[in-house]
Amino acid sequence: MEEFARGPCTSTGCGRLDQGVASFIREMPKVELHVHLEGTVGPETLQLLAQRNRIDLPPALIRAADRQRRFGSFDSFVRVFMATAACLRSLEDFRSLVVGLGRDMGRQNIRYAEVTWTPQLHAHLGFGADDILAALNAGRREVLERWGAEIRWIPDLVRSYPGPALRVQAWACSAAARDGGVVALGLGGPESDAPLDAEIVDAFARAAAAGLPANPHAGEGGGPQSVWATLKALRPRRIGHGVRSIEDEALVRHLADQEIVLEVCPTSNVALAVYPSYEEHPLLTLLSAGCRVTVNSDDPALFGSSLTEEYLRAVDACGLTLDQLQAAVLTAVRATYLSGQERASMEASFVSAFADLRIRHGLAPGGAAALPAGAGGAK
Ligand SMILES: [Zn+2]
Repeated sequence: MEEFARGPCTSTGCGRLDQGVASFIREMPKVELHVHLEGTVGPETLQLLAQRNRIDLPPALIRAADRQRRFGSFDSFVRVFMATAACLRSLEDFRSLVVGLGRDMGRQNIRYAEVTWTPQLHAHLGFGADDILAALNAGRREVLERWGAEIRWIPDLVRSYPGPALRVQAWACSAAARDGGVVALGLGGPESDAPLDAEIVDAFARAAAAGLPANPHAGEGGGPQSVWATLKALRPRRIGHGVRSIEDEALVRHLADQEIVLEVCPTSNVALAVYPSYEEHPLLTLLSAGCRVTVNSDDPALFGSSLTEEYLRAVDACGLTLDQLQAAVLTAVRATYLSGQERASMEASFVSAFADLRIRHGLAPGGAAALPAGAGGAK
C-alpha cells in the first residue's frame, strides 16, 4: 500500500555546530509532545493527495506550501493548514499519513510522540471519529512494528468554533477513544483577548471529570493574558507554546513554581512571525528562569523543519548547552501522558543512550560539561 514520506531535511542552518554535537543530536533518542498530524503533510504529499482525490489545488496554495518556512501571519498559515487538511478524504489517506509520520520518527530516533489531530476538521467526510481513529491506529500499529516508535493521540477543539466542542469531548472521553490511544484533549485555533467560550470551558471541565487532561495552546498568538486565562479556566499541566509568557515576570514565576510544562516550537514561532529570529526566541530565557521547557516541531512539513532540526537550532541559534538540551529531552519524557512506570523506564533508557552517545562522539560526560568552544553554547 502506498504511504507518504518526506525527503531529507536540508535546512538546518547549523553550520557552526561541532560535528560531534550535531551527530549526538541527530542520533539521540527523542520524544515529541507537540506535533499536528495535519501539519506533517508536506508539499509533495499535498500534491499526491490532491491527485489521488482529484482535488484542484489553487496554484497559489501550492506555491505557498512549497515556500513553507515563513508564513508571516497566523491567518496565512491557517489557510494552508486548512487546505492541506481538506485533501485528506479517505480512511486510507489517514492511515498512510501516520505511516509517513512513523517513517520520519524512525529516521530521527523519535521513540514516542503524542500527536494532535482535529476531529472537527474532518467531520464533513461523513466518517465517525471512531472510523478515523481506527484508520490512524492501523497506521500506528504499523509504525510500532516497522520502527519501534510509539504514538498516542490528542484530539483537539478549536477556540473559534466551539459548536462541536461537547461532541468531540464526549467522544474523546469514550472507552473506545481511550482504549484507542487518546491521552488528552487539546485546544487550538486563534487566540484572542476575549474569555474562552463557555462551551469550550464546559467541555474541558467534563473531560477533567472523566480523567482526560487538558492540553491547550496558549501564549503563541496571544500574550500573557491569554496564558493566565487558559490556566485559570482549564488548569492544564502542559501548554502548547506558552512562549509569550516571557512578557510577564509574574507569569514566568508562576509557570516555574507550578512546574507547568511548555511545549516550545521555535521554528513555528519564527515562521509565524511571533519572533523575528531564532536568536531572539525566548527558549533559553524561559529555561534559565526555571520553566519546564520542551522542544517540538508543531507542523514540521509545513514549516520545512523536523524535531532534529529544532534541537540543532536550539543549540546553534537559541544558545542551549548540550546539558540543557539533554535536560529538555528528559523533561519531555517526564511530561508524557504515559504511566509512571513507562516514563521511568523510558527515562532510564534515554539516560543510558545519552551516556553512550557522548562517548561515541567524543563529548565530555554530562553534568557540568558544556559544548566545545565556539559550538554555540555560550552566547
Ligand atoms: Zn500547535
